[in-house]
Amino acid sequence: MTNELRDMMLIAGCGVSGRAAARLAARLDIPFALLDEQDNDSLRAFAASLPKQPESIYFGFRAQDELPLFERTVLSPGFRAGNPVRAKLAAVSGQLVSELEFALAACGKPFVGITGTNGKTTTTELTAELFRAAGVRACACGNNGYAMSDAAIDCLDGKLDLPVVEISSFQLEIMPVPHPAAAAVLNLASDHIDRHGSMEAYAAAKFKLLGDPAANCVVNSLILDRFKSAAPGQKLHTFSAVLPADFTVQNGSLSFRGRDIIPIGKLALKGVHNLENALAALALLASVRGEDAVFDPAVAKALAEFESGPHRLELFLTANGVRYINDSKATNPHAVNAALAAVGGDRNVVILLGGLDKDMNFAELAASLNHLKCAVVFGSCGQKIAAFLEKNSVPLSMCETFPDAVEKAVAAASSGDVVLLSPATASMDMFRDYRDRGDRFKALCRKFAAPDGPAMEQTAKPRV
Ligand code: ADP
Repeated sequence: MTNELRDMMLIAGCGVSGRAAARLAARLDIPFALLDEQDNDSLRAFAASLPKQPESIYFGFRAQDELPLFERTVLSPGFRAGNPVRAKLAAVSGQLVSELEFALAACGKPFVGITGTNGKTTTTELTAELFRAAGVRACACGNNGYAMSDAAIDCLDGKLDLPVVEISSFQLEIMPVPHPAAAAVLNLASDHIDRHGSMEAYAAAKFKLLGDPAANCVVNSLILDRFKSAAPGQKLHTFSAVLPADFTVQNGSLSFRGRDIIPIGKLALKGVHNLENALAALALLASVRGEDAVFDPAVAKALAEFESGPHRLELFLTANGVRYINDSKATNPHAVNAALAAVGGDRNVVILLGGLDKDMNFAELAASLNHLKCAVVFGSCGQKIAAFLEKNSVPLSMCETFPDAVEKAVAAASSGDVVLLSPATASMDMFRDYRDRGDRFKALCRKFAAPDGPAMEQTAKPRV
């Protein structure tokens, strides 16, 4: 191993964000090296396709392999604490930075940041839509396949003026206080406690996004107390669909300080939680473009037409009077409560719950148990969820396999009921990711509930 720090960047982990970081390093003409634990044709083809070639390549890297010193390493979140390669990278790097931190520093434009336990992706995409409707060249990035580094390249090339960035607690935890033009904390509930250690540490990571005294802050009224103790005295817009706020629901409309913006009946988005996402997006627009911007008819049109993506309260089938809804992206109890508030009636929901735990507090589900006809429980933390449901007298079945769970749920539903996959957990114990889980659920429901074909398929825009 050489003993001098090389004026070169190491990009460790060549997934979506690492590859984008390499493109950005090439665009900035920074000398860089690539490292990945894998070594395959796709990685080699990617490296060869870069407009500037890496100085070195360490594919198939193992912790015991030799590595020189680097000034800066862009570290993929895939290298979790405890991974020996990560420890090696920390030892040889002057500085470990995230792809997000590298890209934000490089892009040279203001940005909007959005975090929270739930609603980040939906609100990030909606906010970008609203800015575009208001005439700003904005784009959602961060967690939707369009990495911040690619957005930074587009900023540098003069194609983009305002990245709207979804930011997770993991990214915030390891980066210095960021400097957004405006930023929102949407909500705060139990999630990822396994990685953050405590609810306090998780909340502190989220509120770091609002740590710059110059930032325009957008905060849910429900967590205003936490905001005031974390970041007092900053420019602030509050939002809430249920509590007093600057942006709220009044007379059946989204409104700003008593002035109506759009009747909620005109929105394609459904559910109180999505009203809050819309209010937060409006507050971010007001923070950057001025408060009059939210009354632009083009903004109202964009709001009316916006729909959340697949795997979020996605109604995909109606068969024998039963509605089948895929909410596989609900990976914590807070999202499940939002789903049940949106689609639940009086004990009419057959819910599928279970998967990989993140040290979460399933007692948060107590708020919505009145909507449950019964629960079908599966996955590695099934016992923990079942113990809570049993204590609260919810009828339940435990299933070893996912196909069994879906078959049981279909059999338990009758006309007027909803079969809802809203699992409250991560998916990686049984599935590649939440998309895989949702796709498998949809295929199995079609098999068990509508074996005769797609006559009742919801092919139009999904609504709940
Ligand atoms: P994230 O990016 O934070 O995971 P998504 O927009 O992808 O958020 O939604 C994830 C899950 O949370 C979905 O099940 C969705 O229905 C639910 N959800 C969306 N917005 C909210 C909100 N404001 N409050 C509670 N749940 C929400």
